[in-house]
Amino acid sequence: MDTAEFRRRGKEMVDYVADYLENIEQRPVYPDVEPGYLRSLIPTDAPLEPEKYDDIITDVERVIMPGITHWHSPYFYAYFSAASSYPAMLADMLCSAIGCIGFSWAASPACTELETVMLDWLGKMLKLPEEFIAGTEGHGGGVIQGTASEATLMSMLAARCKAVRCIQASNPEKSEAEILSKLVAYTSEQAHSSVERASLIAGVIMKKVPTDNSYAVEGAMLKKMLEQDKAAGLIPFYFCATLGTTPSCAFDHTTELGPICNEENMWMHIDAAYAGSAFICPEFRPLLNGIEFADSFNFNPHKWLLVNFDCSTMWVKKREAIIGAFKMEPLYLKHENQESGLITDYRHWQIPLGRRFRSLKMWFVFRMYGLQGLQDHIRKQVTLAKEFECLVQADNRFEICAKVIMGLVCFRLKGSNGLSELLLKRITKSREIHLVPCQLSGRFVLRFAICARSTDSRHIQHAWQHIAKLTTELLLESKH
Ligand code: PLP
Repeated sequence: MDTAEFRRRGKEMVDYVADYLENIEQRPVYPDVEPGYLRSLIPTDAPLEPEKYDDIITDVERVIMPGITHWHSPYFYAYFSAASSYPAMLADMLCSAIGCIGFSWAASPACTELETVMLDWLGKMLKLPEEFIAGTEGHGGGVIQGTASEATLMSMLAARCKAVRCIQASNPEKSEAEILSKLVAYTSEQAHSSVERASLIAGVIMKKVPTDNSYAVEGAMLKKMLEQDKAAGLIPFYFCATLGTTPSCAFDHTTELGPICNEENMWMHIDAAYAGSAFICPEFRPLLNGIEFADSFNFNPHKWLLVNFDCSTMWVKKREAIIGAFKMEPLYLKHENQESGLITDYRHWQIPLGRRFRSLKMWFVFRMYGLQGLQDHIRKQVTLAKEFECLVQADNRFEICAKVIMGLVCFRLKGSNGLSELLLKRITKSREIHLVPCQLSGRFVLRFAICARSTDSRHIQHAWQHIAKLTTELLLESKH
């Protein structure tokens, strides 16, 4: 493909993408394929001779689209939202064209510097405490990780390094292995599985803290566990709080938990993967109170802030705690400006070396929507969730299972778990709307998450009518 053909094909691709997204609701949201469907549709080996572009594009509809779950359909209500907007897509195109691997300032100064400033912009939109803002003289700052899982892992590894160094400073006779075998990390029993996974990778004990009846961790419960574990000779070193849990969007009591972590010299990380975006709205910002006690904080603009995947933003109060834990300085990565206090080399903040120019899409989105446009998007989706909640509440066959605070509604059919399971099976089989379940207090619960940017009231009404119709059929059949 030469430049002239790229120009032509690029314009065609933009049209294809625009048509796809504009007409997406006409496609079944959930694919009708069996495992292994794709292998039989394409050759077993890569082609020897070049093929025609037109043939590839034809195959997108023949091979790929039948196996796509359409995350951006207004009938997609599963998991949590995946952000998508045109400015972010265009910025990603430019990112691919520039194609720099911005592991250090010298590897592309704009890539590093825009990221630091975008994290400051976003940190200020969230009204983060000043210590998290890099500015020109700050000791904290932010970084873009690929996912919340990576952010949690990085925070846990940094906390582990800090704990070992701290204990060895006053007990030099203690070996690293001895200390590591006693370190304990804590998180909610409702936390995302990525937190437990981080502990497996970090090689530390992980304990799950039971939650209250709103599925949130209270200070007293953590305190009790810490006392027991310390009495048994263990060393608590890390707590991951969740703001907006995956099953039900519950909020841990960080204003109680934060002071406990600080007193115990434990690292507190806050995982707000989904809900974090909403904190740009003043009415939701109180849910972030307690952030002042945290060492690190993370959320995914790629979930709810219109910045396409991948963009998971993480802030630390003391960047030295993270940089100092993982610093490697081979000669080929060094550059003459690396000691300048005005910049940071992001390779020290993450697991891989290579990194894309992801801040470009934040820059495009923030400028094209403005803070107000982003707030409108969040508020619209929360309003739609409330609309769905009202529909559920008005039907006495159903019950709401958790307080609806943001864009997620947890509900179930009254009665046995089996009934709700059957209903979900029918919903999935119909392919008209797509939902996934969760478990709350041993109950099988359906999660209805407002996801697509294009979801409107008419889609919510249609989704509800569909659920109500399938329910009527199911209950009639189960009577016979
Ligand atoms: N934490 C929470 C609270 C989540 O809801 C999720 C995913 O939905 C994750 C972490 C994992 O996110 P990621 O895929 O960015 O690692």
